[in-house]
Amino acid sequence: MVIGMALRCPIVSVLGHVDHGKTSLLDRIRKTRVTKREAGGITQHIGASEIPTDTIKRISKDLLGMLKADLTIPGILVIDTPGHEAFTSLRKRGGALADIAILVVDINEGFKPQTVEAVNILKQNRTPFIVAANKLDLIPGWNSVEGPFVLNFNEKKQHPNALTEFEIKLYENVIKPLNELGFEADLFTRVKDITKTVSIVPVSAVTGEGIPDLLVMLAGLAQKFLEQNLKLDVEGPAKGTVLEVKEERGLGKTIDAIIYDGVAKQGHYLVVGNPTGVVVSRIKALLKPKPLDEMRDPRDKFKPVKEVAAASGLKISAPDLDTVIAGSPLRIVPKNKIEEAKKEIMEEIEETAIPTDDE
Ligand code: GDP
Repeated sequence: MVIGMALRCPIVSVLGHVDHGKTSLLDRIRKTRVTKREAGGITQHIGASEIPTDTIKRISKDLLGMLKADLTIPGILVIDTPGHEAFTSLRKRGGALADIAILVVDINEGFKPQTVEAVNILKQNRTPFIVAANKLDLIPGWNSVEGPFVLNFNEKKQHPNALTEFEIKLYENVIKPLNELGFEADLFTRVKDITKTVSIVPVSAVTGEGIPDLLVMLAGLAQKFLEQNLKLDVEGPAKGTVLEVKEERGLGKTIDAIIYDGVAKQGHYLVVGNPTGVVVSRIKALLKPKPLDEMRDPRDKFKPVKEVAAASGLKISAPDLDTVIAGSPLRIVPKNKIEEAKKEIMEEIEETAIPTDDE
């Protein structure tokens, strides 16, 4: 148990087979509000969305009792780019960049090649995950409504045939394939220990059913697994990963990155991998997206910030970024730490280049 130490937001990535609903689910999560006027909504980062714990608590108030634990993490940071290369194949010391993951499976279609591939990556990186069994609304006869699944999953709300159909699909299409890949799995309401059994949360990205359940299970899982590892190293240099290299009007080539550790400071040096080695570049600006109501001109999308603490998404403006590619590891360090950072980056690149076997 960590007392008196700041926990950082765990980073969550979304994986799954194409068309099973990763993008729709992310959109639905981003749009989830308690009421329109309530403060403390979801903040946009570059390449990620932050859902504060207070928001999760309000959306999921009926369900918090299920966790039997108090949520002390500040929130969760969900990566907006589903299944991004950087969060699946790339490794940092001790595992993948994402702390936890959501595996999206169409409950009607079941496991597909990319689902199996995703599970194997999660297994290899020892990334804890939950399953979002999506497209619940397409189960024949299912009466899908916005809000908690637990309140909608009973004989009063569903026809017996729909309930039977649901149980068959849940078992055949989700539980059984997970068992075959070496995981215990069950409907989240039947899971006793979330560290031993993979929780399956039925959802519909279209109706919004199950989103509160998904968020609360995600926060609970993050907390349980990561309490020990989520200390925010406020003094340390920022460590991160390149999501995208983008041309921006007036800024030239910029990097969209996720910072998973430490603090990024404007004026420090960006040390980042490229296909032939390491690039060092002095940072001109660290940028965050402006809230919509502060955006006077559509071109005026970003605001400069002096520093950014993990976990966070941000845009970096610096010279000489032409050779940088998505998925590269990065550091943001003061001048006297450049050589050390270069060495770390080289080591990380070598580590990712050679296939390793954990078993
Ligand atoms: P991705 O490739 O995994 O990102 O999948 P998308 O989010 O693009 O979804 C693929 C298709 O499935 C789209 O036509 C979505 O509208 C549809 N879809 C996604 N989620 C649901 C759902 O919960 N219910 C239904 N009925 N359709 C869905």
